[in-house]
Amino acid sequence: MSDSKIDQIVQIIKDEFATDKFIPLHEPYFGGNEKKYLEECIDSTFVSSVGPFVDLFEQRIAEITETKKGVAVVNGTAGLQVALRLVGVQANDEVLTQALTFIATANAINYNQAKPVFIDVDRDTMGLSPSALNAFLEEFGELREGSTFNKKTGKRIGACVVMHTFGFPARIEELVAICDAWKIPLVEDAAESLGSTVNGKALGGFGQVGVLSFNGNKIITSGGGGAIVSNDVELAIKAKYLTTTAKVPHPYEYVHDELGYNFRMPNINAALICAQLEQLDFFLKKKRELALAYKSRFDQLGVNFRWELPNTQPNYWLMCVELENLDERNLFLKESNNSNAMTRPIWQLMNKLPMYKECQHDGLENSLYLEDRIVNIPSSVRK
Ligand SMILES: *Cc1c(COP(=O)(O)O)cnc(C)c1O
Repeated sequence: MSDSKIDQIVQIIKDEFATDKFIPLHEPYFGGNEKKYLEECIDSTFVSSVGPFVDLFEQRIAEITETKKGVAVVNGTAGLQVALRLVGVQANDEVLTQALTFIATANAINYNQAKPVFIDVDRDTMGLSPSALNAFLEEFGELREGSTFNKKTGKRIGACVVMHTFGFPARIEELVAICDAWKIPLVEDAAESLGSTVNGKALGGFGQVGVLSFNGNKIITSGGGGAIVSNDVELAIKAKYLTTTAKVPHPYEYVHDELGYNFRMPNINAALICAQLEQLDFFLKKKRELALAYKSRFDQLGVNFRWELPNTQPNYWLMCVELENLDERNLFLKESNNSNAMTRPIWQLMNKLPMYKECQHDGLENSLYLEDRIVNIPSSVRK
């Protein structure tokens, strides 16, 4: 790729946002009832860990993810930590997941004193690969006593965490079938994929438990926050209990009968997310418009703009281009960031980080390929 081609990619970004000023990667958009609901919190004094917006949010997030019950939590990372405990992950277990993910996925496993095992992703979805998962389990899996054990390490495989990269759906239906066959609980890290669908069904509700994030850079935000969703009502009730200090219900006494957490989402954050949820369809529409505009221009230029697979509808949370190799990626990162268009490479693989460099992995061929080439480009909802 020539330097001029890189200049042209930068120019396309600037054209789409119609500015020469700094273009952030993803900025929040507050165009609805945000101020009104925040005022209601202050006027009512309900700013903290209980309140009507928390209840409303929990109801709405279950509806949107087409699950039976939702639980508001302080952030997505805490949600993942609890999700793994909910599905039965114990100290000394292993958890299968992708190396190509945000650090929170691996850390949540670590917080449960379990060890990640890194499986490759598919090159097209950038999410956990069913064929790689199958190959790993065929080679190392041994199903006994209702669990799968890793023949190499002797450890129990307590769960599998699938993450939908940048809102592009992983092959979740196939992954569910594999995990079911091996009796491995599946946790969906849907932190990036609120509003994405596979065959018309919302992400977040495919596994035993799904987790969402509403951090400031996500498609909608509560400032900071997350949710645990499930079709298993008992599990969701347990999620609420564990994230609210494991308190035994009583009108005035404090009795806690298990090690719980204070992972509650304050009502003031819930107010913000309730206002944002009202605009989700609008955001999804605007982001798709931008994705379509990018696609037509990048197609003309011969640049690989990541697009959806058949029967999937990504939320286009963070859009990305695939450069031809590491040198071009680095050149593009430098040129774009030097000229006011914020871009960012995909994550460094988890197995390269000091905390996870001893973890077992399967070679990670596609993950390594994508690590060298994928760059996120500005993706905000345009005013
Ligand atoms: C954002 C994110 C999280 C964590 O969410 P926080 O709310 O920031 O704690 C977890 N996993 C993935 C893949 C994410 O992108």
